[in-house]
Amino acid sequence: METVNNACLKFRRLLEDALDGNLSPEEYKSFIKHATFCPACHRKLRGEIMFRKLLQRALNQKQQELFHDKAQQLIISIKQRIYHQR
Ligand SMILES: [Zn+2]
Repeated sequence: METVNNACLKFRRLLEDALDGNLSPEEYKSFIKHATFCPACHRKLRGEIMFRKLLQRALNQKQQELFHDKAQQLIISIKQRIYHQR
């Protein structure tokens, strides 16, 4: 079992909204920040994105594009942060 602290619990509560693009700029920032230094949540986020990619086959073309943009943006933000820390 992995240990989950309060920051992780908060991250997981925000996960759905983050993927839907519904976070405020402040929430989004702390969400990205947590994913940057918490490998467990980073994995969780990537797993969720993979899962949604499978689900999106049931969506129409327009919805697929919207989702792809948001998920892609999220991954890019995290990668940039990780890169800048090195
Ligand atoms: Zn975490």
